[in-house]
Order: sequence, then structure tokens, then C-alpha cells
Amino acid sequence: MIPENSELHVQSRGVTKAFGAHQVLNGVDFTVAPGEVSCIIGPSGSGKSTFLRCLNALETYDDGSLLVNGSHVGYEFRNGRYYEWNTKQFAGFRSRIGMVFQRFNLFGHLSAEENVACALVEVRGMQKEQARARALQELAKVGLAEHSHKRPHQLSGGQQQRVAIARALAMDPEIMLFDEPTSALDPELVDEVLEAMKVLALAGMTMVVVTHEMGFAREVADTVHFFDAGRIVESGAPGHVLGNPQMDRTKAFLAKVL
Ligand code: ADP
Ligand code: MG
Repeated sequence: MIPENSELHVQSRGVTKAFGAHQVLNGVDFTVAPGEVSCIIGPSGSGKSTFLRCLNALETYDDGSLLVNGSHVGYEFRNGRYYEWNTKQFAGFRSRIGMVFQRFNLFGHLSAEENVACALVEVRGMQKEQARARALQELAKVGLAEHSHKRPHQLSGGQQQRVAIARALAMDPEIMLFDEPTSALDPELVDEVLEAMKVLALAGMTMVVVTHEMGFAREVADTVHFFDAGRIVESGAPGHVLGNPQMDRTKAFLAKVL
């Protein structure tokens, strides 16, 4: 275990993970400072989603050390030893992390506003009226004030993904994780979602974004990480990693996607 560095939102050292005999994470070293926007790029199957899921404890890791928002993910240090979190500790930890997936995972029978408000009522114990007001506020921030009464099937994919972002933001997360948030969208809907993410980045949100959108990474990221075969192979400013990569594997990947 490493000493806690409260000045970092994420501090991963040598994180490993295997599914049976398949070693998916091979020692991930990764840090994120408050307010930093980190983009993770890399080939399909390299372990990016698995790593992101470890960050919010949707997945367990086998070895290494993982600190998120000052917590050793999955463990509490008490009386000189580590104890595994109980269900309540997992839930408390996850409620401080926003996660946006490729698929929006909205409740089909609820309106946009209800989708955003429900966790505020269920998890935070907020009064319904107050939760509703907060939901409207968050929907307005992603440009959906006029659509708050609509159900998912009445919204475009881009609008649904913005509802998912508003839902995550309503919980006042300390960090937002995005796993290819635009990959399932029709091309003409990608920009509206990237724009909402850019606004969030400019507002100072700490963000980890797995993406194939190199334009977004170049423009918005503070740091770009190239992920390959279960580890981060190269990290740096976008101009460095995307414009002047040092590693052959990064060069080969970029030659394919740029
Ligand atoms: P990426 O997001 O970079 O495409 P993933 O993290 O989704 O990569 O997957 C990395 C590897 O781990 C893949 O080979 C995938 O099949 C495997 N994998 C992911 N989740 C599981 C799981 N729950 N059980 C078994 N194998 C998995
Ligand atoms: Mg993935």
C-alpha cells in the first residue's frame, strides 16, 4: 500500500487484474490531479474499461494500490490493518463518482427529469420537490431545459447521453468518469455531447475520459494516456502524445486512427 496523497484525485500504482487466466491489467500507473482532464486512448481490448471500472469499484483489482478521492478503493485502514469495505462503504464511495457509459442506461419509463432526480431521492434522501428543482437545473446546464418531461424514447441518442451526464452531475461528484461516451452515437450527435463535456471541463471538473475522439483529446485534455496491453505505455500533454509520440506502439495506434 502507498501513502495517501490527498492532493491527487486518483493515484494508481501497479494495479493488476486477471479474468481467470487472462491478465487484463498489467500494472497500471496513473495519477489525476484535481481539476485535471485526462483522456485515455488505446486499442480495443487493452483493458481501458476494466481499469475505469476499477476506479469506481464496479470491478475489483488483484494487486497494486489504488487511491481515489483519498480512499484506498475497497479497503479501510483501521487499527493497523486493512479491512474490506462493506456494502454501505461501497455505496458511499460510488455516490461520489460520476460515471457515464457508452450506453446511456436511463430508465425507459421515467422522464428525463425523473431519471436525474431519482438518485437524489433514493440515495441522498432529498425531498421530491427539491430533487426536481435540482434535476431541472442540471438538465438546463446540458441544454435540455425544454426536454425535461420527455422519456428516453422521445429523445435523440445525444440528448439521452446528456441526460446521463446531468444525472451524474446532480450527485455532486468529485470526479467524472466517461467510458467512450460518444461511441454509440450517430456521427451528427457526437458534437453536442462533446460540447457538454467541454463545458464541464472548463468549469473545473476532474475528468477521466476514455475516448476515440482525438479532436476532443487534443483540445480539452490536460493529459493524454496511451493504454496498451493492460498498462499505460505513454503519458503527457496532448501535443506530445498525439503530435510527437515516443513509443512505437503509440505511433502505430495513432497511424491507424488519425
Ligand atoms: P477496452 O475497454 O480497452 O476495449 P476491456 O477492459 O473492455 O477493454 O477488456 C479487456 C479484456 O478483458 C478483453 O479481452 C475482454 O474480453 C476482457 N474482459 C472484460 N471484462 C471481462 C469479464 N467480466 N470477464 C472476462 N473477461 C473480461
Ligand atoms: Mg472499453
